Amino acid sequence: MADATPDIAIPPLHQITAKIAQACKIARRDPGEVDLIAVSKTRSADEIRPLLNAGHRSFGENRVQEAAGKWPELRAAYPDITLHLIGQLQTNKADEAVALFDCIHSLDRPSLVDALAKAMQKAGRSLPCFIQVNIGEEEQKGGCAIADLPALLEQARIAGVPVVGLMCIPPADIEPAPFFALLAELAARNGLAQLSMGMSDDFETAILLGATNVRVGTALFGARNG
Ligand SMILES: *Cc1c(COP(=O)(O)O)cnc(C)c1O
Repeated sequence: MADATPDIAIPPLHQITAKIAQACKIARRDPGEVDLIAVSKTRSADEIRPLLNAGHRSFGENRVQEAAGKWPELRAAYPDITLHLIGQLQTNKADEAVALFDCIHSLDRPSLVDALAKAMQKAGRSLPCFIQVNIGEEEQKGGCAIADLPALLEQARIAGVPVVGLMCIPPADIEPAPFFALLAELAARNGLAQLSMGMSDDFETAILLGATNVRVGTALFGARNG
């Protein structure tokens, strides 16, 4: 949490921050444990700047190319931002991702562990990573299979890729709580402290179940066109 600039200048940010505080109170958690990632995919620099001016510092993008087009300039003006990659990463973009982002939420397969290990070594820069788990075991969904998680963690440990937690996108249109609870259980079982889970429609539920990073787009910026 960056500074004392009143987020009240941006009503949606103020409302979400209040809802996070309320959920933390119910869960008897410290609100300082929950990072609100403002998901700024499809939003222009002009749409992002008011949040930066209000003191918000944590942002998420799902595409390397799109982030490369707007964040270097914004970062020059606000060097203390934290930029999270929340979308799928191709191995051939690992170098660029390591240069642009501060944290990666979509580590999901052995080839990407190798590519990120090499990219981080080359750049002399170590990014905390979340392993994305295909928590609903859905055919089309990205993320590592639950059964493959221990092996992927071990591979990352050996390769020197720092894994700090687990991330998931639960199946659409059904109650997400059991999936959040399962992700929390998997993290605990593997000694991982952080949980990247919860979006605009379900971040409060996610916080009740232990989320440390919630990824909120539409509730903050309004509906996306694309
Ligand atoms: C777009 C996106 C979000 C934000 O979704 P909203 O419903 O707009 O809050 C969160 N996580 C990931 C991985 C996304 O791609």
